Amino acid sequence: MMPGNYILLYSSPTGEKREKRLAIADEQLTAITGTISRCGKQELPSSLFANLIHFLMYSRFASHVHDDDRKFSVSDSCTSCGTCAAVCPAGNIELVEGKPVWKHHCELCCGCIHLCPVQAIQAGRSTEKRQRYRNPAVSIGDLKKEILKGRP
Ligand code: SF4
Ligand code: SF4
Repeated sequence: MMPGNYILLYSSPTGEKREKRLAIADEQLTAITGTISRCGKQELPSSLFANLIHFLMYSRFASHVHDDDRKFSVSDSCTSCGTCAAVCPAGNIELVEGKPVWKHHCELCCGCIHLCPVQAIQAGRSTEKRQRYRNPAVSIGDLKKEILKGRP
């Protein structure tokens, strides 16, 4: 389990709670990578619960996800740094006169909201007070490089 970061629904954990969760995740990842290197690729067991959630929710989510950036906005605190455009994995943000404009092929990853250094991006009122999250082991510079490699 990693620190939750779906800011559209809740705030990310902070402080000791976040550190503890990351430390446990690191231990589990070591065990998981050990198992994979010993056993090779294996099919994951099917989960009835996951299949049910997928069946009930995915088609609804997929039908509007690209347009959901219409609820995003940027405040006057934007410094025109360009981070949001650089980290968007879908290439969905263009800076126009120094401010982000969303192009409606969003994947709703919430990366732009989390990684804006001045928290200038909101998705309605509910995100205004919610905690942003970035894995402390990953720098914004590394993210930008990785995202550029994988971008469509
Ligand atoms: S990351 Fe934030 S400050 Fe930088 S351009 Fe985007 S909205 Fe503005
Ligand atoms: S970073 Fe994620 S949430 Fe933001 S516009 Fe790109 S795909 Fe959408």
